[in-house]
Amino acid sequence: MEAINSNRFTVAEVARLWTTAPSLQSPPLPNQPSRFSLYPHWGGGSMLGNHYDARLNGNWAVSLHFGKDAVRWPGRGVHFKGIATMAVDAPTQPESTPSEVHEAESTARSVAGAIRWDYFLPFVILHVLTLLIFVPWFFSWTGVIAFTAGVVVFGQMAIPIGYHRLLTHHSFRTPKWFERILVTLAMCSAQETPAHWVAWHRMHHTHSDKPHDPHSPRQGFMWAHVRWLVHESRTREELFAMYKKYARDILSDPYYRWIERVPATAGVLYLVHAVIYLLVTAAICWAVYDSTSEAVRMTASVFVWGVVARTVWVWHITWSVNSLSHVFGYRNYETSDDSRNNWLVTLLTAGEGWHNNHHADPASASVQHRWWEIDLNYYVIRLWGMMGLATHIIRPRIKRKGQSLP
Ligand SMILES: [Zn+2]
Ligand SMILES: [Zn+2]
Repeated sequence: MEAINSNRFTVAEVARLWTTAPSLQSPPLPNQPSRFSLYPHWGGGSMLGNHYDARLNGNWAVSLHFGKDAVRWPGRGVHFKGIATMAVDAPTQPESTPSEVHEAESTARSVAGAIRWDYFLPFVILHVLTLLIFVPWFFSWTGVIAFTAGVVVFGQMAIPIGYHRLLTHHSFRTPKWFERILVTLAMCSAQETPAHWVAWHRMHHTHSDKPHDPHSPRQGFMWAHVRWLVHESRTREELFAMYKKYARDILSDPYYRWIERVPATAGVLYLVHAVIYLLVTAAICWAVYDSTSEAVRMTASVFVWGVVARTVWVWHITWSVNSLSHVFGYRNYETSDDSRNNWLVTLLTAGEGWHNNHHADPASASVQHRWWEIDLNYYVIRLWGMMGLATHIIRPRIKRKGQSLP
């Protein structure tokens, strides 16, 4: 107990406090954690050094508040009352190792090491490049059309319909070749591999707004929007354990398995699509504008709007479902989570914003539970149905069972 009686907490000491306090472990942790990480909470009191996000084994995320007289886990009452009157060390490297906490301490991570640079750097680079759309030289209506078409193909068909409603929830079926096209297009959106995306989202449904939810706004709005991605810290072994639990069916497909086997496929496929997009655009512009400077300008314009800005836009509208739709909006159903029906997110995502409807009935291909809750993504699925590309389309439970809204 010397650590507690000293006048500062270290990362390792907080790890020990946590792991030895059954009241903080709900549901209980199976064993001692193999890794404990503590990050300053960016959205709240981190400037005062009193609010941290803690993760165990990469997927246990909660907030810890170090108040004047308590360490508090929001939503679960006050814990360690009376022993946290001391300041908390900046969570850098753990100090010397008391033998009784060596396991948690030896694997505690520093803040800098907790950032996933393979996510963080592309996020920053593409956001900075997107600012080019405000430079007049890069503007063209052809670029705007390329952006809009890209949002429909990648931000509507590939991610919400392909990754979400088809792969994650099996709310309809398609021929395998068509499913693989949708998955390939989704990979061109820089939103991870199919097994990874599906596992994350099923984990979200299983633990919505509970401690194992990978992106609950209860951990902070920006955590739910994007920070959870930047701090995703699973080892390869933990990742496969997650796949085993949440995405077995996805990995039964040899193509999706191959995607997982080859390192960095999500990034590489995205880059390959960007290069192909650039080359095709350049070839068309050279043919139309005959090797003039206008050909260069139009190629740059279409690329910046159609690839760079579109990717960033599709990121944000996808992330908005996790953040905005769990904070703002109305509820048709008293689900056990914080999901909301949010008309703005619906407008941005062509339907995904009716998120409370979705959490109440995730099996349904449609989230349109009232006549005016328009769900364009469902209309696309129905259109594919007429074309023979979608079968076994699952209707909302209220229609399946002849129920009415509560
Ligand atoms: Zn949700
Ligand atoms: Zn879902």
